[in-house]
Amino acid sequence: MAAMLPSDSALIVVDVQNDFLPGGSLAVPHGDRVIPPLNRYLAAFAVRRLPIFATRDWHPQDHCSFREHGGLWPTHCVQGSWGGQFAEDLKLPEATTVIAKGTRSDRDAYSGFEGTDLHARLQALGSCQLYVGGLATDYCVLATVRDALAYGYQTYLLGDALAAVELAEGDGRRAIDRMVRLGAELMWWQKVA
Ligand SMILES: [Zn+2]
Repeated sequence: MAAMLPSDSALIVVDVQNDFLPGGSLAVPHGDRVIPPLNRYLAAFAVRRLPIFATRDWHPQDHCSFREHGGLWPTHCVQGSWGGQFAEDLKLPEATTVIAKGTRSDRDAYSGFEGTDLHARLQALGSCQLYVGGLATDYCVLATVRDALAYGYQTYLLGDALAAVELAEGDGRRAIDRMVRLGAELMWWQKVA
């Protein structure tokens, strides 16, 4: 695996928060299935002292994405709430950098790069290769990967650590196809373990 994880690699775990998991207000079907594979990737990056980022939706109470404020989604991931916390079973190393997004009432952000300092931090670290997994394939993972590719990062999509909302059946598959067409490389743990 060492050969597969050069020193300019970074791991980006997208939105593995209680509200996106079974029992949460905006549960992604089988969202909890991403946790064991993500824990393997987290351990692999941690042992090599490679940078790890965890993005989170971190919305004010009156966020524009919430239905009662004219948005598309039920209230979710409110700042400081249980739903906004990372999954308890997700083993984020202490050195993980947390990237909060969607923190302003009047703006939503699906991508971990949108309105955050993620790109600047990656540049400062010299990270050129990003490994991205988490929730949800068809929204925040898609948007994050699209921005990563637009910024010129070599981007790997962790195929075994994704789950989709699927408002329409097949959205997850279509999102993966789209990311691959844009230049992301789909990979699985078995390929690198
Ligand atoms: Zn949100």
